[in-house]
Amino acid sequence: MSKILIVEDESDISELIALHLTREGHEPICVGNGLQALPAAVEHTPELIVLDLMLPGMDGVQIFKRLRADTRTATIPVIILTAKAQVTDKIAGLELGADDYLTKPFSPRELYLRISAILRRVKKVTHVSEVQRGRFMLDRKHMKLFLDGVPLDLTTTEFKLLTTLMENDTTVHTRADLLREVWGYNSDVATRTLDTHIKRLREKLGAACDHIVTIRGTGFQFQTELIEAVPA
Ligand code: CA
Repeated sequence: MSKILIVEDESDISELIALHLTREGHEPICVGNGLQALPAAVEHTPELIVLDLMLPGMDGVQIFKRLRADTRTATIPVIILTAKAQVTDKIAGLELGADDYLTKPFSPRELYLRISAILRRVKKVTHVSEVQRGRFMLDRKHMKLFLDGVPLDLTTTEFKLLTTLMENDTTVHTRADLLREVWGYNSDVATRTLDTHIKRLREKLGAACDHIVTIRGTGFQFQTELIEAVPA
């Protein structure tokens, strides 16, 4: 279920959109005046905004610019609606940076499909930026790594190293791979640097240090679930 703000002064249109969204399990919020759009976006933090361009109070272009200029609303996807079917308006709408654009008359079904496509895309990005690996949670967007919900105090290199290991926890990462991925292709950093960083990382992980496993003669692996040591 997603909260969707509909900014549209023609009540029959906004009611029709709201009806469709409600039927699909979403939570529509309707405002009919341009001046109400920004306060409503800040108050409700919707997952998406359907924005009509021709509005009383403040027009959709102004609203859109203000939405993008405000950090609280800057990343909310916007689908622009307009009665003007002219190509120039369409281009203007997309140039503004709207996520999608529909000209009236449109079918509510088509609008719904476009809303769904954007929500799916956004959810995917959100999902990818936060990765849970057992006790570890990687928040890539904020470059933070949490162990049991507690943020780890890592340097940029340590963060890169640990996330590289974590992101592919079924693979053994060779020393060469890690040096290339973390320090860059043309780096002539010594392999000892890698060992130093692994050592420091393990110290910072404390009791959870066993999640970084040394694969002798090859490199390292991150084990999300610790495997009991098998007697040799
Ligand atoms: Ca209108």
